Amino acid sequence: MIVCKFGGTSVASAEQIQKVANIVKANPKRKIVVVSAPGKRFSDDIKVTDLLIDLADAVLQNGEVEAKLQKVVNRYKEIAEGLGLDEAISEVIEKDLRGRIASKTDKDLFVDSLKASGEDNNAKLVAEYFNSIGLKAKYVSPKEGLVVNDPPERTFALPETYENLKDLGKGEEIVVFPGFFGYTKDGVLRTFDRGGSDITGSILAAAVKAELYENFTDVDCVFSANPKVVNDPVGIEEITYREMRELSYAGFSVFHDEALIPVFKFGIPVNIKNTNNPSAPGTRIMPTRKPNGRPVIGIAADHGFSTLYVSKYLMNREIGFGRKLLQIIEEEQISYEHTPSGVDDISVIIRSNQLTPEKEERIVKRVKEELHADDVYFRHGFSMIVIVGEGMRKNKGLAARAASAISKTGANIEMINQGSSEVSLVFGVLQEYEDQCLRALYEEFFTPVAI
Ligand code: ASP
Repeated sequence: MIVCKFGGTSVASAEQIQKVANIVKANPKRKIVVVSAPGKRFSDDIKVTDLLIDLADAVLQNGEVEAKLQKVVNRYKEIAEGLGLDEAISEVIEKDLRGRIASKTDKDLFVDSLKASGEDNNAKLVAEYFNSIGLKAKYVSPKEGLVVNDPPERTFALPETYENLKDLGKGEEIVVFPGFFGYTKDGVLRTFDRGGSDITGSILAAAVKAELYENFTDVDCVFSANPKVVNDPVGIEEITYREMRELSYAGFSVFHDEALIPVFKFGIPVNIKNTNNPSAPGTRIMPTRKPNGRPVIGIAADHGFSTLYVSKYLMNREIGFGRKLLQIIEEEQISYEHTPSGVDDISVIIRSNQLTPEKEERIVKRVKEELHADDVYFRHGFSMIVIVGEGMRKNKGLAARAASAISKTGANIEMINQGSSEVSLVFGVLQEYEDQCLRALYEEFFTPVAI
């Protein structure tokens, strides 16, 4: 059995949903179809999920609700009409939205409920369309077994989910399942992170032990570097879970990083494919891969990082210094990315969006007072550039090549971190050098001379 997930642009219009139906029809093994909410049809379009967030805000702030609700309903109406479905489905969707608004409770859970309606209603619509063209299908709600943890922790699927859903897709009909959310044991709806339909697809693929998880999107493959920055980057045919994880950490947004966990656990291969060009082979994510002659498979870059710098003479001899420092950060509900350190100093790299001036002030004060540090301060505006490849492990001189390529751009390397697995090498540079560094590194590792 194949589980296939179609992202927002793949289900953004009637025409796109027709392509989805053709893809599903082309292989009878495609028994489980996970759908996102309708996404962008053109570059300045607004995703239904964003329309729903806007609607939720209007409800919470007693703003202009009706016009915002109609915007959402109209997106579905247009799709339903384009697919030749009768009006009943749009009425079902409107009624569903009004019901969710009327049962508003806790703020966060209310927003989750409205956000999730995007995929939930789309799954109903897609199932209806499949049936209308003779593809026997049924909508299945995550209520049937996708059980998630309670708030306030970030949402993840509980282990029983895999047992609950193991027989999904074994019947005659194609299952159309909404992505992005599940229900707690008490029946409370919770969404995953943005882009979380990838996670749902992965959970279902793991639950039914699918032979393949196909993730349909709008690009032919995953590229070795961001095509918006690097001119015509090499496409990736095969990549390991570990490599993909490292790349998606720093900005490779084609596949959600949390979506790798379930498929990785059960060793299910993933194929990233293009709904607009389904015959292209796409990118396969596998437990292992054949070497392709290059030590590096991809280079990612992401910005929005800050560092907390702490120095104290004889830090290396002080038992528990690192733990106490990280505990202060934990108590501010902040997660950290890397902790490069020297003999008497340590930096903690943090995603800047977790910080506020008040939090920074409290942290600096506590580190000074409780840990008696000599110097403590925050710096902002860093980018992390990550070079990834299973072939890097046995490759001597790779760090030197990377550092030399970066130095040619004039950027100062603020931090270097090599993961213990030696599959990745991370460089911290000032944000303004990010694109230049990415291009220089790409040239170093991907131009023909470098092979
Ligand atoms: N629709 C949700 C989002 O825009 C989830 C998804 O598409 O995967 O984030």
